[in-house]
Amino acid sequence: MTDHELQRAAAAIAGASSVALACHVNPDGDALGSMLGMFHLCRAAGKPAVASWPEPFVVAPHYTYLPGLDLMTKPADFPAAPDVMLTFDCGSLDRLGSLAAPAQAAAELIVVDHHVTNDRFGTINLIDADAAATAVVVRALAAQLGWSLNAEAAVCLYTGIVTDTGRFQYSNTTPAVFELAGELSGFGLPIAAISRQLFEEHRFAYLQLVADCLGRAELDRELRLVSTSVTAADLRRRGVEIDETEGLIDIVRRASEAEVACVLKEAPDGIRVSLRALSEVDVGAIAVTFGGGGHRYAAGFTAAGSVPAVLAAIKAALRAQ
Ligand code: AMP
Ligand code: MN
Ligand code: MN
Repeated sequence: MTDHELQRAAAAIAGASSVALACHVNPDGDALGSMLGMFHLCRAAGKPAVASWPEPFVVAPHYTYLPGLDLMTKPADFPAAPDVMLTFDCGSLDRLGSLAAPAQAAAELIVVDHHVTNDRFGTINLIDADAAATAVVVRALAAQLGWSLNAEAAVCLYTGIVTDTGRFQYSNTTPAVFELAGELSGFGLPIAAISRQLFEEHRFAYLQLVADCLGRAELDRELRLVSTSVTAADLRRRGVEIDETEGLIDIVRRASEAEVACVLKEAPDGIRVSLRALSEVDVGAIAVTFGGGGHRYAAGFTAAGSVPAVLAAIKAALRAQ
């Protein structure tokens, strides 16, 4: 991300009578947090803004505390051809689902992201692959605009950085991340309540589903791969929504024998795969070969087929790497 791109983005936003914001499908903490953070900054600056994400237009239970969710626009009501549109945490157009059409029709499309696999689909690309989260890029954009932070935006941006750094534990946790976290926490964030809802609290039914999935997890000692699945039958039997299972990969990847962890989920749109690398294996590169994306150590994709077939394809890709 160059200063020139940052200046162009700020000028486009400053000159717009309104902006349209969108984040990736099945939004995580950074997608929602960076988009809502910008939404609150716009409101405070008197800049009319709408914000949305593609169907299914739902929020996973651990993100429901985010301020502004009640002010979101349904994707069906999103402007068809915005003057200025911003996308958040979205590495490619297809991750925008039905909002890809407005993005393509937008006069100016500002892509705010940190995925190394980002294919630069904007007219202005604010992409910093060294940023721990898209929320970090939003902070830089706000500074360029001369907009000061506020309490609502701080909660949202903090959510982006705390989730994408794995609670300040991953290798992307730089001094700059702690500085930003310090700045944000100065707004009186309810840190303990946020942490509990994000990471520490689940319905009992989810714990039972975790037991099912861990019970049949597989360790491939040759490939140093630990994997498990969440089937539609698991979700039905335990009465759990697929969005509740985002943290399962963080348990599976604890296996010390493994260098790669994988969770495959039977979703309405196909087999949703989460990959984590604990060594030099580049799971982002593997996800790209399956039409997905992400980062070196955390990536994902959605594929057609069955859980065993997709797992077999992943094993073949790991052998090839
Ligand atoms: P997840 O395993 O869903 O937490 O995702 C890990 C990383 O991979 C995140 O940076 C996601 O943005 C990225 N990712 C996950 N699924 C996809 C996908 N279908 N296409 C592109 N990137 C993805
Ligand atoms: Mn994301
Ligand atoms: Mn992110």
